[in-house]
Amino acid sequence: MRTAVRYFDHAATTPIRQVAVDAWAEHAHLLNPASQYGSGRAANAVLSEARETIAALLGADPIEVIFTGSGTEADNLAVQGLFHASPSHRVISTGIEHPAVREAVEKLPGADVELLPVGFSGHVEPTEILDQPAALATCMWANNETGAIQPVEDIAARATAAGTPVHVDAVQVVGHIPVDFHAHQFSTLAASAHKFGGPRGVGLLLARRSPKLEPVIHGGGQERGIRPGTVDAASAIATAAALKEAVGEMDSERARVSSLRDRLVSGVTAEISTARVTTTEPALPGHAHFTFPGANGDAMIMLLDGLGIEASTGSACNSGVNQPSHVLEAMGVGSDGALRFTLGRTTTQEDVDAVVAALPEVIERATF
Ligand code: PLP
Repeated sequence: MRTAVRYFDHAATTPIRQVAVDAWAEHAHLLNPASQYGSGRAANAVLSEARETIAALLGADPIEVIFTGSGTEADNLAVQGLFHASPSHRVISTGIEHPAVREAVEKLPGADVELLPVGFSGHVEPTEILDQPAALATCMWANNETGAIQPVEDIAARATAAGTPVHVDAVQVVGHIPVDFHAHQFSTLAASAHKFGGPRGVGLLLARRSPKLEPVIHGGGQERGIRPGTVDAASAIATAAALKEAVGEMDSERARVSSLRDRLVSGVTAEISTARVTTTEPALPGHAHFTFPGANGDAMIMLLDGLGIEASTGSACNSGVNQPSHVLEAMGVGSDGALRFTLGRTTTQEDVDAVVAALPEVIERATF
Protein backbone atom coordinates (compact mmCIF):
# COMPACT_ATOMS: atom_id res chain seq x y z
CA MET A 1 0.00 0.00 0.00
CA ARG A 2 1.27 3.48 -0.89
CA THR A 3 2.15 5.58 2.15
CA ALA A 4 1.33 9.29 2.58
CA VAL A 5 2.90 11.45 -0.11
CA ARG A 6 5.95 13.40 0.98
CA TYR A 7 6.07 16.33 -1.41
CA PHE A 8 9.49 17.78 -2.19
CA ASP A 9 8.78 19.69 -5.38
CA HIS A 10 7.57 23.06 -4.07
CA ALA A 11 9.70 24.90 -6.63
CA ALA A 12 7.71 23.23 -9.41
CA THR A 13 4.43 24.23 -7.80
CA THR A 14 3.31 24.57 -4.21
CA PRO A 15 -0.12 23.49 -2.92
CA ILE A 16 -2.76 26.20 -3.15
CA ARG A 17 -3.46 28.05 0.11
CA GLN A 18 -6.93 27.81 1.61
CA VAL A 19 -7.21 31.62 1.64
CA ALA A 20 -6.77 31.55 -2.15
CA VAL A 21 -9.40 28.83 -2.63
CA ASP A 22 -11.84 30.78 -0.42
CA ALA A 23 -11.18 34.09 -2.17
CA TRP A 24 -11.63 32.47 -5.58
CA ALA A 25 -14.85 30.69 -4.59
CA GLU A 26 -16.30 33.87 -3.11
CA HIS A 27 -15.68 35.81 -6.34
CA ALA A 28 -16.09 33.12 -8.99
CA HIS A 29 -19.43 34.58 -10.09
CA LEU A 30 -17.96 37.93 -11.10
CA LEU A 31 -18.50 39.12 -14.67
CA ASN A 32 -16.33 41.13 -17.04
CA PRO A 33 -14.34 43.80 -15.14
CA ALA A 34 -14.17 45.96 -18.29
CA SER A 35 -17.96 46.32 -18.58
CA GLN A 36 -19.41 49.73 -17.75
CA TYR A 37 -22.61 48.63 -15.95
CA GLY A 38 -23.00 47.66 -12.30
CA SER A 39 -21.78 44.05 -12.45
CA GLY A 40 -18.76 45.12 -14.48
CA ARG A 41 -17.96 47.79 -11.92
CA ALA A 42 -18.33 45.22 -9.14
CA ALA A 43 -15.82 42.91 -10.87
CA ASN A 44 -13.50 45.83 -11.52
CA ALA A 45 -13.61 46.86 -7.85
CA VAL A 46 -12.38 43.38 -6.87
CA LEU A 47 -9.72 43.47 -9.58
CA SER A 48 -8.55 46.88 -8.36
CA GLU A 49 -8.40 45.62 -4.78
CA ALA A 50 -6.26 42.68 -5.93
CA ARG A 51 -3.97 45.00 -7.88
CA GLU A 52 -3.60 47.37 -4.92
CA THR A 53 -2.85 44.56 -2.47
CA ILE A 54 -0.23 43.01 -4.74
CA ALA A 55 1.34 46.39 -5.49
CA ALA A 56 1.65 47.22 -1.79
CA LEU A 57 3.18 43.81 -1.01
CA LEU A 58 5.77 44.10 -3.78
CA GLY A 59 6.65 47.79 -3.49
CA ALA A 60 5.04 48.80 -6.78
CA ASP A 61 2.29 51.18 -7.89
CA PRO A 62 -1.05 49.50 -8.68
CA ILE A 63 -0.80 50.60 -12.33
CA GLU A 64 2.48 48.71 -12.61
CA VAL A 65 0.80 45.36 -11.81
CA ILE A 66 -0.23 43.43 -14.91
CA PHE A 67 -2.06 40.12 -14.63
CA THR A 68 -0.90 37.47 -17.10
CA GLY A 69 -1.65 33.79 -17.68
CA SER A 70 1.67 32.49 -16.27
CA GLY A 71 5.17 33.39 -15.23
CA THR A 72 6.25 32.26 -18.69
CA GLU A 73 3.92 34.78 -20.30
CA ALA A 74 5.14 37.57 -18.02
CA ASP A 75 8.76 36.80 -18.94
CA ASN A 76 7.95 36.76 -22.66
CA LEU A 77 5.99 40.01 -22.56
CA ALA A 78 8.89 41.72 -20.80
CA VAL A 79 11.80 40.31 -22.80
CA GLN A 80 10.14 40.76 -26.18
CA GLY A 81 8.44 44.00 -25.18
CA LEU A 82 11.69 45.67 -24.01
CA PHE A 83 13.64 44.39 -27.02
CA HIS A 84 11.13 45.63 -29.59
CA ALA A 85 10.84 48.98 -27.81
CA SER A 86 14.56 49.65 -28.25
CA PRO A 87 16.59 50.57 -31.34
CA SER A 88 19.48 48.46 -29.97
CA HIS A 89 19.86 44.76 -30.81
CA ARG A 90 22.20 44.08 -27.94
CA VAL A 91 20.82 41.79 -25.20
CA ILE A 92 22.53 40.77 -21.97
CA SER A 93 21.41 37.55 -20.31
CA THR A 94 22.86 34.57 -18.40
CA GLY A 95 23.34 30.88 -19.14
CA ILE A 96 21.16 29.77 -16.23
CA GLU A 97 17.80 31.33 -17.14
CA HIS A 98 14.59 29.33 -17.04
CA PRO A 99 13.36 28.39 -20.56
CA ALA A 100 10.71 31.13 -20.23
CA VAL A 101 13.52 33.69 -20.58
CA ARG A 102 16.16 31.58 -22.31
CA GLU A 103 13.91 30.60 -25.23
CA ALA A 104 12.36 34.07 -25.42
CA VAL A 105 15.86 35.59 -25.73
CA GLU A 106 16.96 32.98 -28.28
CA LYS A 107 13.98 33.78 -30.51
CA LEU A 108 14.49 37.58 -30.52
CA PRO A 109 14.96 38.47 -34.20
CA GLY A 110 18.47 39.72 -34.96
CA ALA A 111 19.47 39.93 -31.30
CA ASP A 112 23.13 40.09 -30.44
CA VAL A 113 23.13 38.18 -27.14
CA GLU A 114 25.94 38.31 -24.58
CA LEU A 115 25.91 36.13 -21.47
CA LEU A 116 27.19 37.10 -18.04
CA PRO A 117 29.55 34.45 -16.63
CA VAL A 118 28.40 31.97 -13.98
CA GLY A 119 30.67 30.60 -11.25
CA PHE A 120 30.86 27.02 -9.91
CA SER A 121 28.58 28.12 -7.09
CA GLY A 122 25.78 28.88 -9.56
CA HIS A 123 25.97 32.63 -9.03
CA VAL A 124 26.11 35.03 -11.97
CA GLU A 125 29.03 37.46 -12.00
CA PRO A 126 28.27 41.05 -13.02
CA THR A 127 30.99 42.16 -15.45
CA GLU A 128 31.91 45.12 -17.65
CA ILE A 129 29.56 43.92 -20.40
CA LEU A 130 26.86 45.65 -18.32
CA ASP A 131 28.60 49.00 -18.73
CA GLN A 132 27.70 49.40 -22.40
CA PRO A 133 24.06 50.14 -23.31
CA ALA A 134 21.78 47.34 -24.51
CA ALA A 135 18.10 46.88 -25.39
CA LEU A 136 17.76 44.95 -22.14
CA ALA A 137 19.63 43.01 -19.50
CA THR A 138 17.81 40.04 -18.00
CA CYS A 139 18.76 37.92 -15.01
CA MET A 140 16.71 35.65 -12.78
CA TRP A 141 16.57 36.56 -9.08
CA ALA A 142 16.96 32.96 -7.93
CA ASN A 143 17.65 29.88 -9.96
CA ASN A 144 14.90 27.27 -10.05
CA GLU A 145 17.32 24.31 -10.04
CA THR A 146 19.96 25.22 -7.47
CA GLY A 147 18.09 27.94 -5.59
CA ALA A 148 21.13 30.26 -5.91
CA ILE A 149 20.13 33.89 -5.30
CA GLN A 150 21.67 36.14 -7.94
CA PRO A 151 23.23 39.61 -7.49
CA VAL A 152 20.32 41.26 -9.30
CA GLU A 153 20.67 44.54 -7.44
CA ASP A 154 24.30 44.96 -8.60
CA ILE A 155 23.35 43.92 -12.10
CA ALA A 156 20.45 46.39 -12.16
CA ALA A 157 22.53 49.26 -10.76
CA ARG A 158 25.27 48.73 -13.32
CA ALA A 159 22.93 48.22 -16.29
CA THR A 160 20.79 51.19 -15.32
CA ALA A 161 23.87 53.41 -15.12
CA ALA A 162 24.52 52.47 -18.76
CA GLY A 163 20.90 53.27 -19.69
CA THR A 164 19.87 49.62 -20.10
CA PRO A 165 16.44 48.49 -18.89
CA VAL A 166 16.52 45.41 -16.62
CA HIS A 167 14.10 42.49 -16.51
CA VAL A 168 14.18 40.22 -13.49
CA ASP A 169 12.56 36.78 -13.48
CA ALA A 170 11.48 36.65 -9.83
CA VAL A 171 9.21 33.61 -10.22
CA GLN A 172 11.09 31.62 -7.57
CA VAL A 173 11.46 34.46 -5.07
CA VAL A 174 8.14 36.32 -4.85
CA GLY A 175 6.43 35.20 -1.64
CA HIS A 176 9.69 33.68 -0.34
CA ILE A 177 12.10 36.58 0.11
CA PRO A 178 11.32 40.31 0.33
CA VAL A 179 10.74 42.11 -2.96
CA ASP A 180 10.64 45.90 -3.26
CA PHE A 181 10.20 46.76 -6.93
CA HIS A 182 10.76 50.49 -6.55
CA ALA A 183 13.79 50.19 -4.32
CA HIS A 184 15.56 48.08 -6.96
CA GLN A 185 16.26 49.59 -10.33
CA PHE A 186 14.25 47.03 -12.28
CA SER A 187 12.17 47.98 -15.31
CA THR A 188 10.11 44.78 -15.29
CA LEU A 189 9.71 41.79 -12.98
CA ALA A 190 7.92 38.46 -13.52
CA ALA A 191 6.20 36.34 -10.86
CA SER A 192 3.86 33.36 -10.82
CA ALA A 193 1.00 32.75 -8.37
CA HIS A 194 1.33 28.98 -8.16
CA LYS A 195 4.84 29.31 -6.70
CA PHE A 196 3.50 31.04 -3.56
CA GLY A 197 0.25 29.18 -2.99
CA GLY A 198 -1.97 31.03 -5.44
CA PRO A 199 -3.89 29.49 -8.32
CA ARG A 200 -2.08 27.92 -11.25
CA GLY A 201 -2.41 29.83 -14.52
CA VAL A 202 -1.89 33.32 -13.05
CA GLY A 203 1.29 35.27 -13.64
CA LEU A 204 2.25 38.79 -12.61
CA LEU A 205 4.27 41.27 -14.58
CA LEU A 206 5.43 44.41 -12.82
CA ALA A 207 6.20 47.00 -15.48
CA ARG A 208 7.18 50.63 -14.99
CA ARG A 209 5.49 53.20 -17.20
CA SER A 210 8.86 53.91 -18.80
CA PRO A 211 10.34 52.32 -20.82
CA LYS A 212 7.04 51.53 -22.47
CA LEU A 213 6.87 47.87 -23.50
CA GLU A 214 6.07 47.16 -27.13
CA PRO A 215 2.93 44.95 -27.05
CA VAL A 216 3.56 41.35 -28.08
CA ILE A 217 -0.09 40.31 -28.24
CA HIS A 218 -2.82 42.53 -29.58
CA GLY A 219 -6.41 42.92 -28.51
CA GLY A 220 -8.80 44.95 -26.43
CA GLY A 221 -6.29 47.06 -24.53
CA GLN A 222 -6.72 45.55 -21.05
CA GLU A 223 -3.75 45.63 -18.67
CA ARG A 224 -2.34 48.80 -20.29
CA GLY A 225 -2.42 47.04 -23.66
CA ILE A 226 0.52 44.89 -22.55
CA ARG A 227 -1.63 41.86 -21.82
CA PRO A 228 -4.97 42.33 -23.57
CA GLY A 229 -7.73 39.83 -22.76
CA THR A 230 -10.51 39.65 -20.17
CA VAL A 231 -8.99 39.44 -16.70
CA ASP A 232 -10.36 36.88 -14.24
CA ALA A 233 -11.04 39.00 -11.15
CA ALA A 234 -11.56 35.87 -9.00
CA SER A 235 -8.10 34.52 -9.82
CA ALA A 236 -6.61 37.97 -9.27
CA ILE A 237 -8.09 38.30 -5.77
CA ALA A 238 -7.09 34.70 -4.97
CA THR A 239 -3.52 35.57 -6.00
CA ALA A 240 -3.58 38.65 -3.77
CA ALA A 241 -4.86 36.59 -0.81
CA ALA A 242 -2.12 33.98 -1.30
CA LEU A 243 0.61 36.60 -1.60
CA LYS A 244 -0.60 38.43 1.51
CA GLU A 245 -0.43 35.23 3.55
CA ALA A 246 2.93 34.23 2.06
CA VAL A 247 4.49 37.61 2.83
CA GLY A 248 2.94 37.65 6.32
CA GLU A 249 4.57 34.36 7.28
CA MET A 250 7.75 34.88 5.24
CA ASP A 251 10.17 35.41 8.13
CA SER A 252 8.98 32.49 10.24
CA GLU A 253 8.72 30.16 7.24
CA ARG A 254 12.18 31.13 6.01
CA ALA A 255 13.67 30.16 9.37
CA ARG A 256 11.63 26.94 9.67
CA VAL A 257 12.13 25.75 6.09
CA SER A 258 15.85 26.54 5.97
CA SER A 259 16.49 24.62 9.17
CA LEU A 260 14.64 21.60 7.69
CA ARG A 261 16.66 22.01 4.50
CA ASP A 262 19.91 22.07 6.51
CA ARG A 263 18.81 18.91 8.31
CA LEU A 264 18.17 17.25 4.95
CA VAL A 265 21.53 18.30 3.52
CA SER A 266 23.52 17.18 6.56
CA GLY A 267 21.57 13.90 6.78
CA VAL A 268 22.07 13.06 3.11
CA THR A 269 25.77 13.95 3.05
CA ALA A 270 26.37 11.95 6.24
CA GLU A 271 24.60 8.86 4.84
CA ILE A 272 25.79 8.92 1.22
CA SER A 273 29.49 9.39 0.56
CA THR A 274 29.04 10.15 -3.17
CA ALA A 275 26.57 13.01 -2.53
CA ARG A 276 27.65 16.43 -3.77
CA VAL A 277 25.68 19.47 -2.72
CA THR A 278 25.07 21.88 -5.59
CA THR A 279 23.08 24.52 -3.68
CA THR A 280 25.46 27.22 -2.44
CA GLU A 281 24.57 30.24 -0.30
CA PRO A 282 23.15 32.76 -0.83
CA ALA A 283 20.26 30.51 -1.79
CA LEU A 284 16.52 30.17 -1.33
CA PRO A 285 15.60 28.59 2.01
CA GLY A 286 13.81 25.57 0.55
CA HIS A 287 16.27 24.38 -2.10
CA ALA A 288 18.52 21.34 -1.68
CA HIS A 289 20.08 20.33 -4.98
CA PHE A 290 22.46 17.36 -5.10
CA THR A 291 24.31 15.28 -7.60
CA PHE A 292 24.93 11.57 -7.04
CA PRO A 293 27.42 10.80 -9.85
CA GLY A 294 26.61 7.52 -11.58
CA ALA A 295 22.97 7.44 -10.46
CA ASN A 296 20.30 7.53 -13.15
CA GLY A 297 17.95 10.53 -12.86
CA ASP A 298 14.75 8.84 -14.06
CA ALA A 299 15.43 5.78 -11.88
CA MET A 300 15.94 7.94 -8.77
CA ILE A 301 12.65 9.77 -9.38
CA MET A 302 10.75 6.52 -10.01
CA LEU A 303 12.19 4.71 -6.99
CA LEU A 304 11.42 7.67 -4.74
CA ASP A 305 7.93 7.93 -6.22
CA GLY A 306 7.36 4.26 -5.37
CA LEU A 307 8.09 5.20 -1.75
CA GLY A 308 5.69 8.15 -1.88
CA ILE A 309 8.50 10.74 -2.08
CA GLU A 310 8.00 13.30 -4.83
CA ALA A 311 11.13 15.09 -6.02
CA SER A 312 12.60 16.06 -9.38
CA THR A 313 15.88 16.38 -11.19
CA GLY A 314 15.13 20.10 -11.39
CA SER A 315 15.93 20.49 -15.07
CA ALA A 316 13.52 20.81 -17.97
CA CYS A 317 11.51 17.71 -18.56
CA ASN A 318 10.37 16.95 -22.09
CA SER A 319 7.52 14.42 -22.38
CA GLY A 320 8.59 12.88 -19.08
CA VAL A 321 12.21 12.39 -20.21
CA ASN A 322 14.88 14.28 -18.28
CA GLN A 323 17.22 16.47 -20.32
CA PRO A 324 20.76 17.38 -19.26
CA SER A 325 20.68 20.59 -17.24
CA HIS A 326 21.86 23.75 -19.03
CA VAL A 327 22.18 25.34 -15.56
CA LEU A 328 24.67 22.77 -14.29
CA GLU A 329 26.48 22.93 -17.64
CA ALA A 330 26.79 26.73 -17.33
CA MET A 331 28.20 26.24 -13.82
CA GLY A 332 30.74 23.74 -15.15
CA VAL A 333 29.25 21.02 -12.97
CA GLY A 334 28.21 17.62 -14.43
CA SER A 335 24.44 16.94 -14.58
CA ASP A 336 25.00 13.26 -13.90
CA GLY A 337 22.80 12.05 -11.04
CA ALA A 338 21.14 15.42 -10.37
CA LEU A 339 18.33 15.40 -7.83
CA ARG A 340 16.45 18.41 -6.46
CA PHE A 341 14.43 18.51 -3.26
CA THR A 342 12.48 21.70 -2.69
CA LEU A 343 10.81 22.18 0.67
CA GLY A 344 7.87 24.42 1.45
CA ARG A 345 5.18 25.25 3.93
CA THR A 346 3.73 21.71 4.12
CA THR A 347 7.14 20.08 4.72
CA THR A 348 7.69 18.52 8.14
CA GLN A 349 10.68 17.08 9.98
CA GLU A 350 9.17 13.62 9.49
CA ASP A 351 9.21 14.17 5.73
CA VAL A 352 12.89 15.11 5.86
CA ASP A 353 13.79 12.14 8.05
CA ALA A 354 11.91 9.81 5.69
CA VAL A 355 14.02 11.02 2.76
CA VAL A 356 17.27 10.67 4.68
CA ALA A 357 16.30 7.11 5.63
CA ALA A 358 15.18 6.08 2.13
CA LEU A 359 17.78 7.76 -0.07
CA PRO A 360 20.86 5.52 0.42
CA GLU A 361 19.06 2.45 -0.97
CA VAL A 362 17.44 4.50 -3.76
CA ILE A 363 20.85 5.81 -4.89
CA GLU A 364 22.36 2.31 -4.72
CA ARG A 365 19.55 0.82 -6.82
CA ALA A 366 19.61 3.72 -9.31
CA THR A 367 23.36 3.30 -9.91
CA PHE A 368 23.85 0.68 -12.62
N1 PLP B 1 10.86 31.31 -14.29
C1 PLP B 1 11.29 30.49 -13.32
C2 PLP B 1 12.57 30.81 -12.61
C3 PLP B 1 10.56 29.35 -12.97
O1 PLP B 1 11.02 28.55 -12.01
C4 PLP B 1 9.35 29.08 -13.68
C5 PLP B 1 8.58 27.85 -13.37
O2 PLP B 1 9.12 26.87 -12.90
C6 PLP B 1 8.92 29.97 -14.66
C7 PLP B 1 9.70 31.09 -14.94
C8 PLP B 1 7.65 29.76 -15.40
O3 PLP B 1 6.53 30.01 -14.58
P1 PLP B 1 5.10 29.42 -14.96
O4 PLP B 1 5.11 27.98 -14.59
O5 PLP B 1 4.11 30.19 -14.17
O6 PLP B 1 4.92 29.63 -16.43
